[in-house]
Amino acid sequence: MTSYDYDLIVIGSGPGGQKAAIAGAKLGKRVAIIDKQEMVGGVCANTGTIPSKTLREAVMYLTGMSQRELYGASYRVKQDITISDLMARTQHVIGREVQVVRAQLHRNGIDLLNGVGRFVDPHTVAVEGSHRGDHTTISGEFIVVATGTTPARPSVVDFDEERILDSDEVFALQEIPSSLVVVGAGVIGIEYASMFAALGCRVTVVEQRERMLDFCDPEIVESLKFHLRDQAVTFRFDEKVVDVSVSDSGTITTLASGKRIPAAAVMYSAGRQGCTDKLDLAAAGLEADRRGRLTVDEHYRTPVEHIYAVGDVIGFPALAATSMDQGRLAAYHAFGEPVHDLTALQPIGIYTIPEISYCGATETELTSSAVPYEVGISRYRELARGQIVGDAYGMLKLLVSTVDRKILGVHVFGTGATDLVHIGQAVMGCGGTVDYLVDTVFNYPTLSEAYKVAALDATNKIRALDRFTTG
Ligand SMILES: Cc1cc2nc3c(=O)[nH]c(=O)nc-3n(C[C@H](O)[C@H](O)[C@H](O)COP(=O)(O)OP(=O)(O)OC[C@H]3O[C@@H](n4cnc5c(N)ncnc54)[C@H](O)[C@@H]3O)c2cc1C
Repeated sequence: MTSYDYDLIVIGSGPGGQKAAIAGAKLGKRVAIIDKQEMVGGVCANTGTIPSKTLREAVMYLTGMSQRELYGASYRVKQDITISDLMARTQHVIGREVQVVRAQLHRNGIDLLNGVGRFVDPHTVAVEGSHRGDHTTISGEFIVVATGTTPARPSVVDFDEERILDSDEVFALQEIPSSLVVVGAGVIGIEYASMFAALGCRVTVVEQRERMLDFCDPEIVESLKFHLRDQAVTFRFDEKVVDVSVSDSGTITTLASGKRIPAAAVMYSAGRQGCTDKLDLAAAGLEADRRGRLTVDEHYRTPVEHIYAVGDVIGFPALAATSMDQGRLAAYHAFGEPVHDLTALQPIGIYTIPEISYCGATETELTSSAVPYEVGISRYRELARGQIVGDAYGMLKLLVSTVDRKILGVHVFGTGATDLVHIGQAVMGCGGTVDYLVDTVFNYPTLSEAYKVAALDATNKIRALDRFTTG
């Protein structure tokens, strides 16, 4: 029998890598995880999810945005918000998060090797540290690649980390720009657009498609666009950037249509590229697609059976939430531990200001597949808790089957949307009907009560329809 240094080697310490390593260790296996010292916790903890969500929280608090309905449009917690105000909170939370990750790895007896991993052969990985000659080689029976992604950068644009940035460089900004062009209206681009707009920055969003977030409920996307326009965001859909130039006074973004947009800075958020270039995949008998991603089967196994890949490096849905489960499932599969597959019903959360979340089908999908449904709506301004927190725009929308009364989709816009969605998800996941929500008592006053109101709205409409059809 071949003997290896480790039962499991994990390359990359983001959510996917961490959970794979911990699952392996919990099964009593010898596990090593590799990442650069400054990236322990991955993109998630250092440049992606955690910093961006903390930045959002800092923006919400300092600008007083969520309180203006109650205290007036000029309400601010701090008048002149600086980049240091925002970064202080962000750095604090990143530091704490990284400590949590390190402590969990340590507690589970996982060896954390600092450096960049590279395949030497299908079972051997060289770890190159930050110092010249600082080099270790380890072998493993199983290997999980969880190397994530980096922002895709068009080669024609000269990124300078100061005025022309990618979305991972937002935290290197020296000041809050007075104006900003955001290229790409995907989730990351639009989240940052909404944060900078809340800070009083004039934002222009340039998107080459005709619409944004077209996987979401169109009515909710319209509400978001309305809010962002109200914050002085300009949208340029169906437009392509052909050039970005820099001068002492700022940047000029030129569009294919001939429009020129002056701004203090430009942030590119136009997709991400799998981080596989340093792995020497060929030495392991693997290759990546043109976007640097690896292909896996339903057990997260690459074509080389003892090498698994999880997280953003395998593409959609590229969320911290899903990466964690993929890592856990990959490790369990490697060591023959029985597991359940993930349920197909997965939530989407978009942390714009205001936030969006949904689970299940959209109206567009139900209509195109000819599934009859009724809509139940609850508006936060009609909920006591909505009045108390000062959210006059939020809404919750239930899509209910008129055939068997099951919940087919839940769409939430406004305060707490990304948490609230899980009530609907749980009911849907258990095959519940709208009647469960009608017959359930909710705490009062809560935003969760929106479920009851929306459920009553839907059942009243279904009842009216039944009365009409039965004469
Ligand atoms: C701005 C932004 C906001 C986001 N917001 C959310 C959100 O709100 N909710 C959500 O669920 N998801 C969000 N995401 C997505 C989320 O961050 C990713 O899905 C998640 O981090 C992917 O986890 P991962 O395990 O693939 O590894 P990652 O977190 O991508 O980390 C990969 C790690 O691998 C390391 N690595 C790469 N190559 C090597 C190598 N050769 N050797 C050693 N180490 C290597 C890197 O240094 C990095 O630390 C956001 C992403 C961004 C960019």
